[in-house]
Amino acid sequence: LNRRLAEFGTTIFAEMSALALSTGAINLGQGFPDTDGPEEIREAAVRALRDGRGNQYPPGPGVPELRTAVTAHQQRRYGLAYDPDTEVLVTAGATEAIAAALLALLEPGDEVVALEPYYDSYAACIAMAGGRRVPVTLRADVAEGRFRLDLDELRDAVTDRTRLLLINTPHNPTGTVLTREELAAIAELAVERDLLVVTDEVYEHLVFDGAEHVPLATFPGMRERTVTISSSGKTFSFTGWKVGWVTGAPELVMAVRSAKQYLTYVSAGPFQYAVAEALSLPESYFTAFRADMLAKRDLLAAGLAEAGFRVFRPSGTYFVTTDIRPLGESDGFAFCRALPERAGVVAIPNAVFYDHREEGAPFVRFAFCKRTGVLEEAAKRLKSPT
Ligand code: PMP
Ligand code: GLN
Repeated sequence: LNRRLAEFGTTIFAEMSALALSTGAINLGQGFPDTDGPEEIREAAVRALRDGRGNQYPPGPGVPELRTAVTAHQQRRYGLAYDPDTEVLVTAGATEAIAAALLALLEPGDEVVALEPYYDSYAACIAMAGGRRVPVTLRADVAEGRFRLDLDELRDAVTDRTRLLLINTPHNPTGTVLTREELAAIAELAVERDLLVVTDEVYEHLVFDGAEHVPLATFPGMRERTVTISSSGKTFSFTGWKVGWVTGAPELVMAVRSAKQYLTYVSAGPFQYAVAEALSLPESYFTAFRADMLAKRDLLAAGLAEAGFRVFRPSGTYFVTTDIRPLGESDGFAFCRALPERAGVVAIPNAVFYDHREEGAPFVRFAFCKRTGVLEEAAKRLKSPT
């Protein structure tokens, strides 16, 4: 392994899912639903396969049906107008979109300011692109019950070498949804310092309690400097299909496409037709999906609180971050390694998402995108560990 990647080893998600398999514990670690997305969308994929749509290399930017569905979704939901021919790129999940965007936009030595804790592929992709990551830590605010961005720290993190801001809202793993005011401040900073912004909005449909997802690209001066990333994995519960997309100004999308061509060339064809249909589902699908996840959040959050964790009730995503110190524990790694044996549950130590590991040490993330009975059983086990 070269020096750029040496520090990354095996992703925590693979490690923890393997631990769940080998111990038979309930897997609340890696974020994937235990119920597949809509039957009619699965049927659409089967139809595409049978009809021979997408069984050979689809067009580089993605099939026109999906690009059009993406732009219709951005227009309908956020009033953002994109040209499906020049301003959309279909990728192999958001993961490839992140990689291709960073490989396309960074020069070696460029600094990338990212919100810490961050999704693990960010650090690895910045490293592969030869960039330098500059973390800005989201701080646990116990009174507010959320992790908060300090806008002064964000400003101070920007230097003359900063090339781009890498933002994620709703935020994995903390569940924070950046507010309109916070996003406006990020946008102002980007414009003032002439920065590019890559924004990972894969949890755009998972916001709760009146929180609102506002795409960064909607703020003044942002459309032309922002690469927006989303994915069908989270919104439609098809994480295995790996269909994601990028929207942005033509030069930016063209740049990302240049990198994507040599990573995967194109993404799997038949699934693209099915995801085009998914994006066109009536509003009732999205409302029901959100309501279902909200009920699951409340169920797991209550169970964790009863078991003695301090719970940061998320306003978005399908993860809940907890503080284990009220349990007399302080090392999330050790806690998560022991948890399958002690309680038959797998969780993720948030420390892996931090450069300042000590900041993340007491935090542990649980996924609630699981069937109600599974969450109830997990809560029961966590309440009476051995
Ligand atoms: N970004 C974030 C914040 C995520 O949590 C995930 C995990 N699913 C991804 C990107 C990757 O998405 P995909 O599975 O579409 O590659
Ligand atoms: N995004 C998912 C999570 O945070 C996992 C994706 C992956 O395994 N790479 O759990």
